[in-house]
Amino acid sequence: MHPCFIIRGADILVTMDDARREIKGGDVLVRDGVIEAVGTLLYDDDAQIVDGRGCVVTPGLVNTHHHLFQTLTRAVPDAQNALLFGWLQKLYPIWAKFTPDHIRVSAMIGLAELAFSGCSLTSDHLYLYPNGSRLEDTIDAANQVGLRLHAMRGAMSIGESDGGLPPDSLVEREADILNDSLRVIDAFHDPNPGAMIRVGVAPCSPFSVSQSLMRDAAILARDKGVMMHTHLAENDEDVAYSLEKFGCRPGQYAQDLGWTGSDVWHAHCVKLDVSEIELFAQTGTGVAHCPCSNCRLGSGIAPVRAMRDAGVPVGLGVDGSASNDASNLVSEARQAMLLQRVMNGADKMSPREALEIATRGGAQVLGRDDVGQIAVGMRADIAIWDVSDIESSGSWDPAALLLAGPTQVKHLFVEGKPVVKDGWLTTLDMARVLQQQSNLVRGLMDA
Ligand SMILES: [Zn+2]
Repeated sequence: MHPCFIIRGADILVTMDDARREIKGGDVLVRDGVIEAVGTLLYDDDAQIVDGRGCVVTPGLVNTHHHLFQTLTRAVPDAQNALLFGWLQKLYPIWAKFTPDHIRVSAMIGLAELAFSGCSLTSDHLYLYPNGSRLEDTIDAANQVGLRLHAMRGAMSIGESDGGLPPDSLVEREADILNDSLRVIDAFHDPNPGAMIRVGVAPCSPFSVSQSLMRDAAILARDKGVMMHTHLAENDEDVAYSLEKFGCRPGQYAQDLGWTGSDVWHAHCVKLDVSEIELFAQTGTGVAHCPCSNCRLGSGIAPVRAMRDAGVPVGLGVDGSASNDASNLVSEARQAMLLQRVMNGADKMSPREALEIATRGGAQVLGRDDVGQIAVGMRADIAIWDVSDIESSGSWDPAALLLAGPTQVKHLFVEGKPVVKDGWLTTLDMARVLQQQSNLVRGLMDA
């Protein structure tokens, strides 16, 4: 693709800018990966033209929670109908067999699926490192697929013999976790605008690491100026564990260990109560809302309406593919909209607000002020949706994409580069990757 192009004449350009402008016949001028102009009838001598007719154009979607390594363990029979803790115990022994190849191929599949669903920036939470696996196995996959990645260096340190859930073979020594976190931050974290790779610190959950690791990880993250992420208040068992082990609710636990602030976001938060929502709002602590995973594991409906009304930053997450089992982010946005309607009424979450959570909301949660909207000076992360086909037929309002619209993009640009073009991934030999995953999955089943 030419470094300068104009997306020309979109049926509707949904900018998600500060004024939430929607421009009929809208154009976007992109140069060197950055949005240079937004409007109508734009012209530039240098520019190639991308035809926007018959399309809705939106910012690239932002995914705030994933475990890309899980893509190779979808629909595992023994884990299909289990609750969270039992589900984990079924899957840990399979994950313990993973090698760097499993981690990398699994990530490539998950990232490709995200790209098709309009996602241009994803975080990933890799919390186990079996058989020589490293964070860079996922980073390598993102570089190949061409998505922006916030690779969170996850960790577990309390194994079965210490009363934890994971088998001892999947936990690490806490000193090793901190040392490797420093290593990957120094090697891969890019703090600059337009960064394709950022790194952060992410102990897995209150029930798989010690309180001292939570505290030390927060100190390390703040010393290095990187973000922090973990799972919190996912279901009733999770809250009961906190009350029994720590004598407090999850919000208090997080606050006591330094895990609140605008540099922190927590996955799920299904069970936050009114005072915890207030705490998150006051401290700017973010939430990764994962509606399909919460449904899949029967965890409940997160109080997203109350969080948004209180001012809590909320983004969307597809969560790991073992608990979704899809990585389709635009479908996730629709699910978020539907669940808030079940909980609060049909007038309490519009398709536009859900799309806002999936774009601007996610960017805010991940600490990015350079993506999440189509505005001058923003990076050119742009999704183009064909609304001339069956899914959008009969729609009076194609910009209400989450009510009637495609669940795959026509084109996806990341940093101005075409990652999906005419419905095809430009960056990977997908047939080869699918063959690799098929061989790896068969090997796991036979083991
Ligand atoms: Zn998760």
